[in-house]
Amino acid sequence: MSGTVHVVGAGLAGLSAAASLAEAGNRVVLHEAAKQAGGRCRSYFDPSLGLTIDNGNHLLLSGNRSSLDFMRLIGAPDDALTGPEEAAFDFADLKSGERWTLRPNPGRLPWWVLRAGRRVPGTRARDYLAPLSLMMAASGNKPGQSGTIGERMSCEGPLYERLWHPVLLAALNTDPRESDVGLAATILRETLGAGGRACRPLVAVQGLSTAFVDPALRYLEERGAQIRYGRRLRAVALGQGRIERLDFTDEPTEIGPDDAVVLALPPWVTTDLLPGTPAPQTFRSIVNAHFAVRPPEGAPLLLGVVGGLTEWLFAYPDRFSVTISGADHLLDESREDLARRIWGEIAELNGLARELPNWQIVKEKRATFAATPEEAARRSGAATRYRNLVLAGDWTETGLPSTIEGAIRSGTIAAQALFRTGMCGRAQAQGVA
Ligand SMILES: Cc1cc2nc3c(=O)[nH]c(=O)nc-3n(C[C@H](O)[C@H](O)[C@H](O)COP(=O)(O)OP(=O)(O)OC[C@H]3O[C@@H](n4cnc5c(N)ncnc54)[C@H](O)[C@@H]3O)c2cc1C
Repeated sequence: MSGTVHVVGAGLAGLSAAASLAEAGNRVVLHEAAKQAGGRCRSYFDPSLGLTIDNGNHLLLSGNRSSLDFMRLIGAPDDALTGPEEAAFDFADLKSGERWTLRPNPGRLPWWVLRAGRRVPGTRARDYLAPLSLMMAASGNKPGQSGTIGERMSCEGPLYERLWHPVLLAALNTDPRESDVGLAATILRETLGAGGRACRPLVAVQGLSTAFVDPALRYLEERGAQIRYGRRLRAVALGQGRIERLDFTDEPTEIGPDDAVVLALPPWVTTDLLPGTPAPQTFRSIVNAHFAVRPPEGAPLLLGVVGGLTEWLFAYPDRFSVTISGADHLLDESREDLARRIWGEIAELNGLARELPNWQIVKEKRATFAATPEEAARRSGAATRYRNLVLAGDWTETGLPSTIEGAIRSGTIAAQALFRTGMCGRAQAQGVA
């Protein structure tokens, strides 16, 4: 292509779009409002802990093919994501004190549900059919038209409390009862439905920036892309079926006849810039708690916890970190009270002293869009009515909930949409559905 592609927003969606475009030989300029790339998926130094942490613990699964393709493309370190060799999820119940490990077998045929030792204690093989009913209910429907999980499967009993609730809540960041069946079905099809091989839990133990952001920036710089920070887009000039100018707070950028634009911005920013764009309007929060304590030998990297406030406990080499999803009910709680309650649970699970170590509580209010049928129906595709403008972001129509996988896939979909207009060079297909 002779022109330049301006990508606005350097979260994972923008980085993914920029990488696909640069891979195909396009000249790319990446504009980001913040001083750092990564958006909702980044690492930073936290002075109260004295440690570099992530803005939130992020869990991936080995079935997240767009994420793994992206990491291969940008040359992320081989050990950037860590997890067990086979799918295995350790769980603990704070109320009963029970512990168990869920072990789906690698292949598609789920014989593991027939083995009591691989299942959740107190459950029967036939209880595990629930996801099938979700996948069947979603089949052939438009986004948001398959109803809620609460309408399609029983949301009570030991299997729900000990498996479907924690797993679906983590994936959707929304109470499963009110969550969209279609979004849940996509996740299940690409992970559990594809067999244990697609369900290995993967954690960025050296941090999200090491795994995703730094290698992506290196990849772009090596291909001549410009990366400009402190560039907040506040308006766009539209005309003649095309975008003509980007008005950043510092200075405008004219969009020439051969140039194109990818807006990879949060939904509320996109709708301010382009009123009338369909986009999710309600969001859910996530609370993360971090404690500067070296986990004892043998603490699992990831522990699912039921019966308490803690939902997922991550044991990083230099800290314990906890994720609590769908956490709107905790936003008004005092940070210190939360730290004390959560640390009490970690101490109990690991036989540690109750004295509170250095801690940090991070409340992300708009962590993800609410994965309800209403919001699932409000997503935009990548293409717009402006021929040189496409959209990306975890909230655009990927079929996935707001996740790393969704954000990265949205970037490749946006790049493919530009390739189809003929304005940009064509990349090799990169895991686009
Ligand atoms: C606490 C937390 C935990 C999470 N846990 C998981 C998990 O376990 N697994 C998982 O898969 N996903 C998880 N997610 C979701 C995942 O982080 C997001 O889906 C993904 O990072 C979204 O990427 P994005 O590029 O679409 O959006 P963003 O990361 O929001 O990127 C948008 C970018 O645009 C920039 N920007 C905004 N306004 C402007 C403007 N006007 N001009 C220029 N730039 C602008 C922002 O600074 C940002 O860099 C979690 C999210 C949070 C917050």
